[in-house]
Amino acid sequence: MTKQKIANTFGIEATANRLLEYASEEELLQLIRSGAVTEPYLHVGAGSNLLFTKDYEGTVLHSLIQGIEVVRQDDDSVDVRVGAGVCWDSFVDYCVEQGWYGAENLSLIPGEVGASAVQNIGAYGVEAKDLILAVEAVSREGEQRLFSADECAYAYRDSLFKRPDMKRWFITRVHYRLSRCERFTLDYGAIRQTLASFPSVTLKHVRQSIISIRRAKLPDPAQLGNAGSFFMNPIVARETFDPLLGQYPSMPHYLLEDGRVKIPAGWLIEQCGWKGRSLGRAAVYDKQALVLVNLGGATGADIVALSDAVCRDVYRKFGISIHPEVNLI
Ligand SMILES: Cc1cc2nc3c(=O)[nH]c(=O)nc-3n(C[C@H](O)[C@H](O)[C@H](O)COP(=O)(O)OP(=O)(O)OC[C@H]3O[C@@H](n4cnc5c(N)ncnc54)[C@H](O)[C@@H]3O)c2cc1C
Repeated sequence: MTKQKIANTFGIEATANRLLEYASEEELLQLIRSGAVTEPYLHVGAGSNLLFTKDYEGTVLHSLIQGIEVVRQDDDSVDVRVGAGVCWDSFVDYCVEQGWYGAENLSLIPGEVGASAVQNIGAYGVEAKDLILAVEAVSREGEQRLFSADECAYAYRDSLFKRPDMKRWFITRVHYRLSRCERFTLDYGAIRQTLASFPSVTLKHVRQSIISIRRAKLPDPAQLGNAGSFFMNPIVARETFDPLLGQYPSMPHYLLEDGRVKIPAGWLIEQCGWKGRSLGRAAVYDKQALVLVNLGGATGADIVALSDAVCRDVYRKFGISIHPEVNLI
């Protein structure tokens, strides 16, 4: 059997026993009925949030379903149904071109539409869940279902589709609602500062600002393998946070509605002296400590060894456990 290479932005060499790609629900159902989707199986998108620690001894599925259809619109909003295989940033670009508000802060996030609904991608004060109305999926057994946004149980970088028993659902299309009335989210990161160099605040200028901020801060996977933020920002109880703030008064933090506190993992990692440091062929990115990079030739095991060392040091110094956001395969 010829092994298939699996694309991933970390630039890790990894293969699967078989790669099944399909361009429609019918093609997917046909693959299922023919018995091609054998155990174990893994559905991937563009591989921008995957870390292969070894070759995948099973079947990898990938959606090529395209299309952006308007399914309803009025003066205030528009509902669109988008194929899981559409490149996320092309969709954002399309929304901006149409004058639809809501997705622009999520510009330049790598990956595909299907994964946006698994990961609940987020950046600059906006999350995919703010736009998602419903998710269409086909199960490993060939059942077709529409999940409402409520059923998807969205939370910070989390959804129903991340649960192990939900891995049997393959997302085929995602329904989003965009606003047709001007509505911006500008009070995050350096958006306002960057926008100041443009003559006016428009959808296109917000998108361009986000793109330039991201290009300055994040490594381009084509140059330096990475999967974006490697760790999730830890969320701790107030009782844990207050004594820490006493000890580290400059600790950045965000108070959440439920009373808990979110702490930027990048700051914790930097305080442990890891920013810019490497372990073998893996390193903590020198401009953003939340990102782990492949310096060239790293294996998944090298990245995991670095991640373990970083987590251990953060725990030793702060007593806080940080966890990978990246999916370890
Ligand atoms: C440089 C860089 C910057 C990034 N910045 C951000 C950021 O700002 N915010 C953010 O949230 N993320 C960010 N990421 C992470 C990544 O872009 C997102 O997690 C993205 O959604 C992954 O999309 P993908 O298509 O590559 O999915 P993959 O990485 O291939 O898969 C991700 C998960 O989704 C599942 N999956 C994918 N498609 C389907 C499907 N059709 N049906 C069922 N399950 C599926 C996979 O099994 C896996 O669990 C960044 C990554 C990089 C490399």
